[in-house]
Amino acid sequence: MSAQPKALPSFVDRVIRADVRAMHAYVVADATGLVKLDAMENPFQLPDALREELGHRLAAAPLNRYPAPRADALRATLRRVMHVPDGCDVLFGNGSDELIALLCMAVARDGASVLSLAPGFAMFALSTQFARLDQVVVPLRDDFSLDAAAVIDALLAQRPALAFIAYPNNPTGNRFARADVEAVIQAACETDTLVVVDEAYHAFASDSFLAALPKHDNLLVLRTVSKSGLAGVRLGYLCGSPSWLNEIGKVRPPYNINVLTQCAVQFALEHADVLVAQAAVLRDERTRLMAALQAIAGVTPFPSDANFILFRVAHDDRTAATQVFEALKRRRVLVKDLSRSHPLCANALRVTVSTPEENDVFLAALASSLHEVTAS
Ligand SMILES: *Cc1c(COP(=O)(O)O)cnc(C)c1O
Repeated sequence: MSAQPKALPSFVDRVIRADVRAMHAYVVADATGLVKLDAMENPFQLPDALREELGHRLAAAPLNRYPAPRADALRATLRRVMHVPDGCDVLFGNGSDELIALLCMAVARDGASVLSLAPGFAMFALSTQFARLDQVVVPLRDDFSLDAAAVIDALLAQRPALAFIAYPNNPTGNRFARADVEAVIQAACETDTLVVVDEAYHAFASDSFLAALPKHDNLLVLRTVSKSGLAGVRLGYLCGSPSWLNEIGKVRPPYNINVLTQCAVQFALEHADVLVAQAAVLRDERTRLMAALQAIAGVTPFPSDANFILFRVAHDDRTAATQVFEALKRRRVLVKDLSRSHPLCANALRVTVSTPEENDVFLAALASSLHEVTAS
């Protein structure tokens, strides 16, 4: 490292926002050499023949040109494959994370607020803070269900500009009762609140709000290809009325979806049947993993409509989950330790549903980790 002038740190302190300096950077765990079950990735690649064909397509992509700014070819394919309702458009983001940030930016009038649920997806709160919006956080009930009455009270009291509801929810995995979400959307219409239903896990879920878009003036549906096998290409999409998307699109960097991403997702969607089949395998594995976890004494898995399962280990010792997490890691299995993320997630770990082989590795490692932790 080169020597830094002594004055630089205080210079940085004078320039960078105090709330940003006080933050911890978003930590992504190093998974080198580990069975990676911490980030809800699809464990399957495209079949070799398709990867080779994709290689030719990518080789022909015009890297010397800026990407198509509205990604119209990809847009047409995606609308068809995903059954985006007539009259609705699609806005693309560099991952749905970027769309969450753009949504917050676009509504950030002075004094505006954003409603989210807890425990919930971390990026809702982070993007809210970055855009200098106020947070309105409504806790889930103890069983992770949506407390619609509490959300509606918060809507009436705070009149937030925006409300995020993940359906299914991350990190809990459950899908809220549809009637509760509908009641919230309707109440939000009265309080001038735009509701974004985040369907990152739609490929594994038994329900969606996409077809309901034309029924609600204040609803947008956010999706991503990340959890369906394409986390590396970074593409999210926001579906809804052009009246909303045209405005939100104004804060989007013009070339946010690069040439290679447009080309790769276009190709993958032309072979959507492969992704659909992979998701079906993972849903079956979820059923098997759930039953196996339920059969382990001292483990309580929670119902999931996503490609991961949240589970609690022993209730008495507060550090039990972290000890099991560390013991799993010594056995080369990486899951997510959520035990300090929220009181409702006390003693909880989250595991991504993977291939039959990796799920078996996880189950064996969990059994011996639990044994080690209880014995110590
Ligand atoms: C994983 C996840 C996302 C992020 O998706 P990217 O498209 O990879 O940025 C968005 N929302 C929820 C609820 C998620 O769990």
